[in-house]
Amino acid sequence: MLLINDINKTYHSEEGDEVLALSDINLEMKDKEFVCFIGPSGCGKTTLLRIIAGLEKPDSGTIILHDEPIKGPGPDRGMVFQEYSLFPWRTVLKNITFSLEMKKVPKSQREDTARQYLELVGLSKFADSYPHELSGGMKQRVAIARALVNDPKVLLMDEPFGAVDAQTRNRLQQELLKIWERDKKTLLFITHSVDEAVYLADRVVVFTSRPGRIKEIFKIDLPRPRDRTSVDANVLRERLLSSLGAEMKNTID
Ligand code: ADP
Ligand code: MG
Repeated sequence: MLLINDINKTYHSEEGDEVLALSDINLEMKDKEFVCFIGPSGCGKTTLLRIIAGLEKPDSGTIILHDEPIKGPGPDRGMVFQEYSLFPWRTVLKNITFSLEMKKVPKSQREDTARQYLELVGLSKFADSYPHELSGGMKQRVAIARALVNDPKVLLMDEPFGAVDAQTRNRLQQELLKIWERDKKTLLFITHSVDEAVYLADRVVVFTSRPGRIKEIFKIDLPRPRDRTSVDANVLRERLLSSLGAEMKNTID
């Protein structure tokens, strides 16, 4: 469904230095699969997500979504970033209707659609609030609703819960799983947290330190709803940590 073929990416700094960000990335994702990316800082996870989003061009390689090569951004891919990327001057509802306005969807229809997604993320009462009136977790819910409003095939999430407290993060994880189970999106989710990856994903892709390569892929065969405290979850977390730990050491050395 989503094919990542031989992706390579080098950045060139103004001083003329080259940073090889991604090297020979190959991955196939199934329809409706939930895949987490995990790896040391600077290993190219965000770069890969931006290439899939069409915001960045690879030096070589292709991304194929449902048999179509990706050439730029499109409504078939929705993106949620770590930092709150809402428009501060727009209400919650107007943040969500933004992309529908771009598509010239009639006003009443776009507000109806936006309200459905607001309800989905449990924020119906906050339609007329402004982002600064919301907590971090609520802002990320709005960002998720905004990403879903075009009914994308793929949801791309870059450490979306990295900046909220642990309790909020757990709740957002559960809500995301509910949305994923209901809407059956293909989901690509970057995280720093081994716990989060084992709780959410069907598969976890571990990246090496720079240049980012795929080091190992873990299949998380735990039934949902998952029990974070189960022995199996613990074993998987340990295996992931040791795979990742070796990479962290490489970064320091
Ligand atoms: P991650 O998300 O895994 O932390 P990134 O994809 O953000 O990693 O970055 C990978 C590498 O590419 C890093 O070394 C980063 O400094 C470099 N990089 C990212 N974006 C740019 C850019 N626009 N220009 C130059 N170098 C960049
Ligand atoms: Mg990143």
